[in-house]
Formats: sequence, C-alpha cells, structure tokens
Amino acid sequence: MNILILGSGGREHTFAYKISQSPKCDKLFVAPGNAGTAKIANNIALKVTDFEAVKALVLRENIEMLVVGPEDPLVLGIQDFFAEDEALKNVAVIGPSKRGALLEGSKERAKEFMAMNNIPTAAYQSFTKKSLDAGKRFLESLQPPYVLKADGLAAGKGVLILKDLEEAKTELENMLAHEKFGEASATVVIEEFLDGIELSVFVLTDGKNYITLPTAKDYKRIGEGDTGLNTGGMGAISPVPFVDADLMRKIENRIIKPTIDGLKRDKITYQGFVFIGLIKVGEDPFVIEYNVRMGDPETEVVLPRIESDLVEIFEKVSEGKLNEVKLQLKAESAATVMLVSGGYPEAYEKGKEITGFENVEDSIVFHAGTSEENGKIKTSGGRVLAITSFGNDFEQALKKSYLNADKLHFDKMYFRKDLGFDLS
Ligand code: ATP
Repeated sequence: MNILILGSGGREHTFAYKISQSPKCDKLFVAPGNAGTAKIANNIALKVTDFEAVKALVLRENIEMLVVGPEDPLVLGIQDFFAEDEALKNVAVIGPSKRGALLEGSKERAKEFMAMNNIPTAAYQSFTKKSLDAGKRFLESLQPPYVLKADGLAAGKGVLILKDLEEAKTELENMLAHEKFGEASATVVIEEFLDGIELSVFVLTDGKNYITLPTAKDYKRIGEGDTGLNTGGMGAISPVPFVDADLMRKIENRIIKPTIDGLKRDKITYQGFVFIGLIKVGEDPFVIEYNVRMGDPETEVVLPRIESDLVEIFEKVSEGKLNEVKLQLKAESAATVMLVSGGYPEAYEKGKEITGFENVEDSIVFHAGTSEENGKIKTSGGRVLAITSFGNDFEQALKKSYLNADKLHFDKMYFRKDLGFDLS
C-alpha cells in the first residue's frame, strides 16, 4: 500500500525508516519531510495543516494510510476531515479524532478527563480572566514552586514553574489578562508541584484495545545537569532503567487502563498513539500530561526497538483488532543524542553544511532539521540530527552515539554530553 507520513522532524524520519522496512509498504511519502526522509521516501512540500493539500496528495498518489506525526493537524481535526469526506473515508488514519486530540490541545480538558477517571495527577484548578482574583488567592493557598499552564498549545513554552509567589501572580495576570501566550492562555491551569523523576510511556490504541510500547526518558533542558532553557528535547533513552515490574503494573492499572476505558466511555474515536508524560513521586506514578502523538526525540529510541512490522500493527489499529498484535521488541537498550544548532533554543543560524555522515558506524542518524541543496546536506532547524544507537544498557548505547557525534560536523554544532547523568 502507499503510505503518507505528515511532518518533518526526527520523529517522522524514524517513522519513515521503520515503515520503509515493511514489505507491505509500496510507495512512501513524507510531507514535507527533510533531507533524511528524502533518501528513503518521496518528500512532498506542503503545510501539514493544509488539509485540502493533503487530500489532493492522497487522491493523486492512491494513499491508503496516513500517519500523522505532529499534534497541530490532529488538534485541528485531520482525522475528522478524512472520516467525513466520501473520497477519503477509507484511508486508515493513524491519529485520534479532534475530540481525542483535546487531551493534548486543552490542559483543562486533560485534567477533567483524569479527574473523571480517577487517574493520579497533581491537584489543580483552572482560571480565566474573569476569575483572575480567585486564581491569585488559589496561588496563596499553595506551597512554592508554583506551576502555571496555558490551557492551549503553546509550542512547549506554555508551562511556567516559579518559586516566588508575587512573580507567580504577575505571570498569571500576564497570561490571563495580557494574552502572554495568546488565545492559548485565555484559560490557565494552576497545579500542585510534584517533586520526582520524569519518564514517558507510549500506548498505541484502536479505541478499545491497546498495546504498551517501550518506556523512554528524554532530556529537555539545553544545559548539562538539566539546566538552562527548555528545548524540544536533547536526547532520550529507552527503556527507562528505574521502571521495574512493580512500577509498570501501577502505571498499567492506575493510568493506562483507566485512560483507554475513559476514551471508550466518552465514545471518542481514537486510533493512534497516547504519549503519557509521567512523574514518579516516591514509588508512585502521576500523569503530568497527555500528548496525542509520539514524542520527539522519544520516537528515535522507541520505534527502532520494535521488531514487529509497524505497517501490520497500524492495519490492526485501523481495523480495531489490536488485540491480535503480539509486539516483538529488541532486548537491547537504545539511546539517541540530538545535535543542535549553536544558540538553540534561542536564535540560531541555518544553512550550515553538515559533513562526516560517511564516517558514522554502528548508529542510525535520523535527520530532524536538515535540507539538501546542490547535493549538500545543510542545517535547517534548531534540532538537526538525532544519533540513535543500541547497547546492552543505555550507557553502552550512549557511548556509541557520542563516538559518532564526534564524527559529524557543522558550524557551531552543540550537544549535551551528560545524558543519563541522573540515572547512575
Ligand atoms: P512539552 O511540550 O514539553 O511536553 P507542555 O508545554 O505540554 O510540555 P507539560 O508537559 O505539562 O507542558 O509541562 C512541561 C514540563 O513542566 C514537564 O515536563 C515537567 O518537567 C514540568 N511540570 C509540569 N507540571 C508539573 C508539576 N505539576 N510538577 C512538577 N513539574 C511539572
């Protein structure tokens, strides 16, 4: 069958890598893709939120399966757009409906969903401009640090964690009354701060059945020792070494099952990934957030560990027969190290030539922000390449990725050299 992946990052290159290995895949398209996906698929330039352009491509190329990488098209309702169109309704869309995508698109909705389904999460209240004063009083009733979250999508920047009460009140006012994050902060969720270690679990569901994919831990901060600004992610490892059978059982029983049951009870069409951001406090898992797609760079360590045919699994998702899938995993650990442009996540330059690909051994180089110009691969984003390796443990996998990071080069290239520092 012909398959289309929407998106242009390391996540989408990893999907393309895995899908192109399937004998079930005839022609593979990535829109818009990057220089890495161009090597294994056909890149098509379009905006992922331009549904009419996606439709035209799907019809022109007889595409039978659409895999949606990023959240924006999901939150805008691409699944519903396909389901409601006579010419598109038989295309298997891997990604939830607009109602399902609200679990990521609205933090207030996600918190309500968790409360309804008794899923452990931080205590919270939400506020709007009208209830600003009540919001300030709520802050006064909490202990620092204070966690303020813009309700809507804010490109990963909408969460503020503040130590000082007065600063928290000012920021609440900036968000509610002065549109600090535009429409996204018209509602703000204030929640209790949870002190613990973060990890993510990934679930693939057909809306009734689910399979649990490997766990992963990513590193969000730009600086070593988890310092400095937040980024899209500087690297990841899988599986997470501190997740033992007991913790996994708690995650399954208290979080994954009630999440899928909640979707069913609410009659939400959900055929896709649920990315559950967790924090382990003491011995107990709490949900920090839901995302309705895979994470980046977590995909770069989770998918390569899957040995089963991903297209076959996606077919089962769209047929509602995920219960028939027995997931085969590599026993080895995986790690990925993200090479980023100097200056990222603030202003950075693009268009730097990347060299050294031919020297990489025993790692997979996934492209994140790259483009090809006159036969040269150049940087075109903040996060540029993700180097994924396997090993008997994450340390061994990381060592290989670091060895290969040193063989690649572009002007002002930067990467964190301390991934996994908090796990040994
Ligand atoms: P991202 O795009 O990074 O996934 P987001 O904008 O969707 O983030 P969250 O994941 O909800 O927002 O929060 C971002 C980060 O803030 C979390 O990864 C976590 O480190 C921290 N955080 C969020 N909520 C809490 C909390 N209640 N207690 C402690 N830390 C928190």
